[in-house]
Amino acid sequence: MSQVYNWHLGREMAYPYEASYPDRQFAFVFNINRCIGCQSCTMACKSTWTFSAGQEYMWWNNVETKPYGGYPRHWDVKILDMLSQANGGPGQWSRATDSRRAPWGEYHGKTIFEASPNASTENGSQTALGYLPADEEWSAPNIFEDNPLNRRVTKKGEYFKSGTDLPTHDAWFFYLARICNHCTYPACLAACPRKAIYKRPEDGIVLIDQKECRGYRKCMEACPYKKTHYRATTRTTEKCIGCYPRIEGKDADANGRPFTTRCMSACIGQIRLQSFVKLKPDGTWAEDRYNPIYYLVHVAKIALPLYPQFGTEPNGFYIPPRWAPRPYLRQMFGPGVDSAIEKYAALDRETLAVLQLFGKDKHICHRYEIREGPKVFEKEIRGRKVEIFNDTILGYDAEGREIIRTTVEEPLYIRSAKHANSI
Ligand code: SF4
Ligand code: SF4
Ligand code: SF4
Repeated sequence: MSQVYNWHLGREMAYPYEASYPDRQFAFVFNINRCIGCQSCTMACKSTWTFSAGQEYMWWNNVETKPYGGYPRHWDVKILDMLSQANGGPGQWSRATDSRRAPWGEYHGKTIFEASPNASTENGSQTALGYLPADEEWSAPNIFEDNPLNRRVTKKGEYFKSGTDLPTHDAWFFYLARICNHCTYPACLAACPRKAIYKRPEDGIVLIDQKECRGYRKCMEACPYKKTHYRATTRTTEKCIGCYPRIEGKDADANGRPFTTRCMSACIGQIRLQSFVKLKPDGTWAEDRYNPIYYLVHVAKIALPLYPQFGTEPNGFYIPPRWAPRPYLRQMFGPGVDSAIEKYAALDRETLAVLQLFGKDKHICHRYEIREGPKVFEKEIRGRKVEIFNDTILGYDAEGREIIRTTVEEPLYIRSAKHANSI
């Protein structure tokens, strides 16, 4: 095993290969607070990439209802349990020491690579701690949809008696939308005995070479997010391709201009923002103050990685839901949860403006700019004075062309009396 630097964990960690980073990295932020579980993203991906024979159970994008839902069933509970056993309990975090190289502190616990039974051997058969889901675990992609966890149900009518008080609801669930995280240290790649999995140097998208794959499913066993899928008709494994033809501008109506992925473009709730981040030679993110992903992760610090303790350094980030219990969220997104939710609950001026970029255009936003507008709201919320300004936010593509121009306040249209009751 080599030693590589994982900035999500604030420390070096063991990984089977030497560190190697792309020029820029495909990355995204999902705002869980806005997801309505409509599955438009899921169907956009399925109807584009996985509609053929042998792909029936493949949902490269899926949206599961937490805490009970999961695809494959209980995937995260299982791997967390395995990791906890290897660590003799949940791994602990110490406080942050470096805002860029260790923004959430240092993780003291084994990752899936370090907890592998063969971590100390050169040619072990299991590169990362993991398991191969059984067929029936892939049978119900939306199991437990909308099922809440409720500590207080004793009789009818008591469901929402105290369940509506923030910060934490007594009855809660939330939708977790997931795609492959195109990890910096992919477990799927590390585990493949054929070296059929590679990370593209131009954008860090992780792909499986179908000519090289022999369907051993070592990647399925190793990926802690369970985002590779076996196709019995071809006896190979397939996964999310980051819609690379779209982000290369090769979509039929793109005229050469890159589009965001299908699942991002189709999102009804406008919870998704996809772009690229620039990397330094050590794999950490180069400062890019007005790149919206960089801003949300490193400046506003409201977007957090999913299960950072796994150790793959995922490049998908989430704004955690305000209403779910904090211990559950800390386990899922690490120690940055409390401050991220506090900030999200009383947004500062710039972050509120940046959030307006989500889902506004199918071209990829690389940079934003804010033009100040008048104050339109002021109130004290949870002990903090909150002011809202009707700022205008502009988004630009990689060539500096304007692709988004929107305001914080959405325009209000009132239907005329003549059409009041018409549809
Ligand atoms: S999420 Fe899984 S399949 Fe995707 S890059 Fe990471 S380890 Fe590989
Ligand atoms: S990025 Fe493309 S391939 Fe990947 S889940 Fe989204 S739509 Fe599917
Ligand atoms: S399309 Fe957007 S809002 Fe709908 S389920 Fe997917 S992520 Fe959530």
